Order: sequence, then C-alpha cells, then structure tokens
Amino acid sequence: MFIGHFAPALIMATRPRAAGLGTLFVAAQLVDIGFAALLVPGIEAMRIIPGITAMNPMDLYRMPYTHSLLGTLIWAVLFGALVWFATKRREAAIGAALVAASHWFIDLLVHIPDLTLYGMPPRFGFGLWNHPAIAMPLEIALIGGALACYMRRTEAPAGNRRPWLLASLLAFAQAIDWFGPKEPAYSLAVPATMLFAYALLAGTAAWAGANRRQRLPAGA
Ligand SMILES: [Zn+2]
Repeated sequence: MFIGHFAPALIMATRPRAAGLGTLFVAAQLVDIGFAALLVPGIEAMRIIPGITAMNPMDLYRMPYTHSLLGTLIWAVLFGALVWFATKRREAAIGAALVAASHWFIDLLVHIPDLTLYGMPPRFGFGLWNHPAIAMPLEIALIGGALACYMRRTEAPAGNRRPWLLASLLAFAQAIDWFGPKEPAYSLAVPATMLFAYALLAGTAAWAGANRRQRLPAGA
C-alpha cells in the first residue's frame, strides 16, 4: 500500500481543529519515513528479491522499530506529542497520532508476513501484494473515497484547483510505484527515493490544504 495510506489523513483533515493536511500526510507515512531513515545506517534492513510478491519485490526482513505494532504506536504517541507542542490543540494531536497508528493496520492488509507485534516473531501480513486484482482496486477505492470526502467536507475560495493537483500527483506517484522500473538490488537509492517521494507529497498536501477549511454543518 502506498497512496492508500493517505486516506486516513484526508478523512482526519475534515474534522474540526484537526492538524494541517501536510502534517497528517507525514503522520500517515511516519513509520515508512522512519524506516527509510533507519535503512541508511543499517539499523533496519530490506533486500530486493524479484518475485517475492506479485506486485512488490521488497523482502522487508528487519524493521522491528518501525513496523512492529508496539514500535508504530510509540512513533504515533511521540508524533502526537510533537503536534500538541506545536499547536496546543488536543484534537489535532490525537488525530495525528491515530493517523500514524493507522499505517500498521493498512500495511497488515498488503504485506506478506513481515510485520510483528513487538519486533519478534510471529510475523503477520495478509499478503494482498500477491493479489493485485484485489489490492489495486482497494487502494484506488480508499484514496478516491477519502479525496471525495475531503472535497465535500472542506471548502476553499472559488476556483481553487490545488486538491486536484494533489490528486494528480498521488495518481502519478502510484502509477510509478505500480508500473515503473523496479530497483534490481537494494542501494541507498531506495531510502532516498522514499524520502523524496514522501517529502514531495507532504509538501504538496500542505500547500493544497493551506487555504481550505472545514465546511460548517448547515445551520451552524
Ligand atoms: Zn509501511
């Protein structure tokens, strides 16, 4: 799952007093950003094994700090605390932490068993990466539904096309992920590409959400 992770961020952004869309995009991929950062010094590790799943050649064999349930929850709490310090809004902090925690549960659907509860086996993963006929429509439905909800429940000055640019960039990034060339072997290009993609998407989301606000319920 790649852009499907941003669905909880878009939904959370429709709530009153939520954190900004850019912050929520970072939350959605926080543990993948952490994973990419920890790949560089080799604290966490992966290798490329072509064909290990139908859709994705990554063998994610060591990621105890970012993709264990316990690790993800710790990242989520720390990120929530950071948002609280920055905004002093309890709703924003709790929402950002929930979005960060959602990452593990969405990964659980698509990963082959490489996710742990606390860094040790047993390993979990329902393996939808081996079932593209399910995984691809599911990802499109998640992000499409969330974008529609975001557009319906927020408003902006007339003629604002920023969310459409965000949607186009998301679609483009996902198309590269699905159909683009795959790295033949692991190198630092892998974490570098991840960090670049997440920074670009979060920056675009911050820009797209900057002049939108939650639509007030009728009569409020
Ligand atoms: Zn992940």
